[in-house]
Amino acid sequence: MAAMRPRILVVEDEPAQREVLIYNLAAEGFEVDTAASGDAALTMVAEDPPDLVLLDWMLPGVSGIEICRRLKRQTQTRKLPVIMISARGEEVDRVRGLDTGADDYMVKPFSVGELMARIRNQLRRTRPAALGGRLVYEDIVLDAETHKVLRDGAPVPLGPTEFRLLSTLMEKPGRVWSREQLLDRVWGRDIFVDTRTVDVHIGRLRKSLCQHGGPDPLRTVRGAGYALG
Ligand code: CA
Repeated sequence: MAAMRPRILVVEDEPAQREVLIYNLAAEGFEVDTAASGDAALTMVAEDPPDLVLLDWMLPGVSGIEICRRLKRQTQTRKLPVIMISARGEEVDRVRGLDTGADDYMVKPFSVGELMARIRNQLRRTRPAALGGRLVYEDIVLDAETHKVLRDGAPVPLGPTEFRLLSTLMEKPGRVWSREQLLDRVWGRDIFVDTRTVDVHIGRLRKSLCQHGGPDPLRTVRGAGYALG
């Protein structure tokens, strides 16, 4: 199932390097988006933020350092993990890379295994459910490993789609998700599903969460989509 896979944006101008990264990330089970320039990357991040950015230092136009600085300056993208990749290895560059706010820094050539470990390390912080873990929002507890959900201590039986919907929403409480974004994340990009399907499953999720009473934690945002809280 493609759903819930963390999505990585690869920003790299050299096609060969890009292909290697795409191949290895896909093999690890990540969804991959690519941008060949800094401007393209900024647009993509603004339209639909990925879970992590792999950012090449040397890019045509806006440099990787500048992209990183911009991402870390904006409130909406400040927490988005950025791993900078560079061919330079001198200590001074390493320090500069981290000075821009990059969460991690790798020097080419690097081992794919190490890169994957560092990616997982970042995602463990920001997307625990995607890597197995517990999510808590008010009286709702979701255990990604056992696929169990509790509300106020009582089990909430959920179908697989409702479970993925809830875990997506619980990863970023307060974030408003459009129906298209939820489709991408929960159903997977390669599957064609009508956006109204999202409404149906949100309805089911709501019903299950509120079966023993308690306020409705799901918020419908008119013209925009859905949010938790
Ligand atoms: Ca480059």
